[in-house]
Amino acid sequence: MSPDVEPVPLFDLRLTEADIAAVTQTLRSGWLTQGPRTEALEAAFAKFTGARHAVAVSSATAGLTLAYRAAGIGPGHEVIVPSYTFVATAAAAVHLGATPVFADIRGPHHLSLDPADVATRITPRTKAVVAVHMAGYAAPIARLRQLCDAYGVTLIEDASHAPGASVDGRALGTFGAAGVFSFFTNKVLGIGEGGMVITDDDDVAASCRRGRTHGMTSSTWERRHSGDSYDVTEFAWNLRMDEPRAALALSRLAGIEDDVRSRREHVVAYRTALATIDGIDVPYTDDEVAAGACYIMPVLLRDADGAAREEVRRRLRGEHAVETSHHYPPVHRFTAVRERWTPPSLPRTEHAADRELTLPLFPGMTVQQRERVVAGLSAVLG
Ligand SMILES: *Cc1c(COP(=O)(O)O)cnc(C)c1O
Repeated sequence: MSPDVEPVPLFDLRLTEADIAAVTQTLRSGWLTQGPRTEALEAAFAKFTGARHAVAVSSATAGLTLAYRAAGIGPGHEVIVPSYTFVATAAAAVHLGATPVFADIRGPHHLSLDPADVATRITPRTKAVVAVHMAGYAAPIARLRQLCDAYGVTLIEDASHAPGASVDGRALGTFGAAGVFSFFTNKVLGIGEGGMVITDDDDVAASCRRGRTHGMTSSTWERRHSGDSYDVTEFAWNLRMDEPRAALALSRLAGIEDDVRSRREHVVAYRTALATIDGIDVPYTDDEVAAGACYIMPVLLRDADGAAREEVRRRLRGEHAVETSHHYPPVHRFTAVRERWTPPSLPRTEHAADRELTLPLFPGMTVQQRERVVAGLSAVLG
């Protein structure tokens, strides 16, 4: 491949003129911290998901911490999380003094928590189970819900990958006590940094609202004309979203259905094309794609290990100008975990993580870009 060929990026974010105008108008308004645009975003996101409450926050990590805290998670508690996730799912439990307990995934065809494995790890100290909707596809949320109800444990959804995804028409994020979304730049609703907690529970929502703004009984926006003072009912943090980001998220939310439709179309086409290449497993089913948010495009290299996968990635980049990634290095293998806790046995997580290769996927991707990815992968594996 000639060196002047434009690489196919793993991900590309293109803002519309309307998105940019929404931000510049906000900057001109002079009100930059949490205010009316944040309220409008929360109302729109609640409507979008069908949740009773939506609480905008500075990141999904912040949202997870607030949701875990609202569930009463604290020192001495265990929180069951997948290891096959981004580290923040576990870190939020650690920030509250709890211990993350890692459970295995279902297997190479479904990269979310296995309810049967979760059941074996529940103890009297278990306070919550966190389901991650990996790649934007639903975890077995009905079974996890049953399991949690049977043991009296709280179910929380890390729906960072999954805005716009559903099960039987019901939005992901609405099955647990709370659902948390990420607006990090490369996510489905990327705005740079930001997140959202949704819940139907008034107490959980109130706890998250207090927790994101110092435990204060009112916000600066609410007090701007009244001149009233405030009380602090508990010590908390500043985990607010600011107005320019809220305006950008609100503007981008208007386009999310088109974006997700485009993602699904690319995934459907990828699945057809990749089926002709030997040695690749493509997780999930066509039905799951139709209801998913299609955040990333994972494939598993059947006979590879971690080193072979990295070699495939190096050749795709060097010989075919195709950028790829790897989701995820399992959390239980990180130094921060190994130095503190006995490593759990997670054979299906390790098997999938060593073989996983993430292909380019984004709404504005062209057919030519997608075909270059497939041709490159076919040549490298052929
Ligand atoms: C991105 C991500 C997070 C963290 O999101 P931030 O908004 O960057 O804090 C948490 N969990 C999962 C599964 C993620 O992919």
